[in-house]
Amino acid sequence: MKNSYDAIILGAGINGLAIAKALAIAEKKVLVIEKSHIASGASSNSSRLIHGGLRYLEQYEFSLIRESLKDQKYLLDTYPSLVKLHPFYFPIYNNSKRPDWMIGLGLWLYSLFSKHGKKAIKVSKEEFFSEFKNIKDNNIRAVFKYYDAKTDDDALTHKIASEAQDAGVNILENTQLKELHIENDTITFDTSKGVFKTNLFINATGAWIDEINKEFNLPSSYTIEKVSGIHIVIDNLLIPEPLLLETASKRIFFMIPEDKTTIIGTTERSENSNVDDIKVNNEDIQYLLQESNKYLKTELKTSDIKETYIGVRPIIKSKKDISQMSREYKLDLHHIANNRILHIYGGKLTTFTSLARKVVNLLSRDV
Ligand SMILES: Cc1cc2nc3c(=O)[nH]c(=O)nc-3n(C[C@H](O)[C@H](O)[C@H](O)COP(=O)(O)OP(=O)(O)OC[C@H]3O[C@@H](n4cnc5c(N)ncnc54)[C@H](O)[C@@H]3O)c2cc1C
Repeated sequence: MKNSYDAIILGAGINGLAIAKALAIAEKKVLVIEKSHIASGASSNSSRLIHGGLRYLEQYEFSLIRESLKDQKYLLDTYPSLVKLHPFYFPIYNNSKRPDWMIGLGLWLYSLFSKHGKKAIKVSKEEFFSEFKNIKDNNIRAVFKYYDAKTDDDALTHKIASEAQDAGVNILENTQLKELHIENDTITFDTSKGVFKTNLFINATGAWIDEINKEFNLPSSYTIEKVSGIHIVIDNLLIPEPLLLETASKRIFFMIPEDKTTIIGTTERSENSNVDDIKVNNEDIQYLLQESNKYLKTELKTSDIKETYIGVRPIIKSKKDISQMSREYKLDLHHIANNRILHIYGGKLTTFTSLARKVVNLLSRDV
């Protein structure tokens, strides 16, 4: 039947599209329904790093870091024009609560998990300041350099979308899901662009997932904390390579050079409103300016900001503080009569390859 699919995926972010591509390669007929446009959610509003996440070492999330760094190597090799390795600098100041030995050990471990072969090293202050001319040169204790990857998240997501289409996936953008009917062996999607049928529904709506589950009364095993993160884009190139800095409360934030601009981020704010209503909060802008100005020779002002952007992380709820909640993803499979509903919870930009492979494995085992 023309409007009948082996799988219908809701959400054209990196995860929905990567799953669509993997299923199509496994010879499934796949439709992706997106209410807005490709990569309109977190997948174009991230920090644009393809990384293991250095800070997750402190949370002992070793399996997430290892998986991410394995995926990083695959992406570096597969998309060399979109995913590039860079030296990242981490200057340690006298007031840092993290001892040098701890940072050195963490970076050694991170290099050990990395598959690109470039080790972390300590660099001299002279070498650092000769390249980072806009950074204040007082109270510095040590400087570390390690390697991680940067991408253009929007372009990477569009690349996966076009590979999915090449593999036969049908992607419908600007399409509203009006009603969902679940019967014996059919799930019917009544949308603004027609009626579509399947018996496998994959919910890859990221931060919108709880809202969808509530609206369509879907079974689910988790709920999420919506944690927004903003970035400010400074209309000036302040640094030659990415820089990690510590805030007064020990959080890590990044300054990342991008063409002739500098991206600074990010923040973590727990949100209660619907995802579509979440807006950049001025307090978060001021926070990033204030923390950056502790390190910059010339003070940044609001007028230096070219743009700001915001993304919302779907973090699986737990009793922990939001900065400590795991970034690990969960695949949540439910059976209703002869239909299957699979929710994708959480995840990172970096891990879309592993996530998609695990989805295909899970579904092929569950027949
Ligand atoms: C501030 C911030 C910084 C980050 N930095 C990094 C980083 O540096 N590195 C990294 O690896 N990860 C990072 N992440 C995480 C990463 O961005 C996300 O994990 C990833 O983009 C999630 O992709 P997704 O496909 O699951 O969700 P999304 O990209 O959010 O896609 C979900 C899609 O579902 C669509 N949708 C919602 N409701 C409906 C509906 N009713 N019908 C149809 N479609 C619907 C939305 O429009 C959206 O396009 C960051 C996230 C944030 C927020």
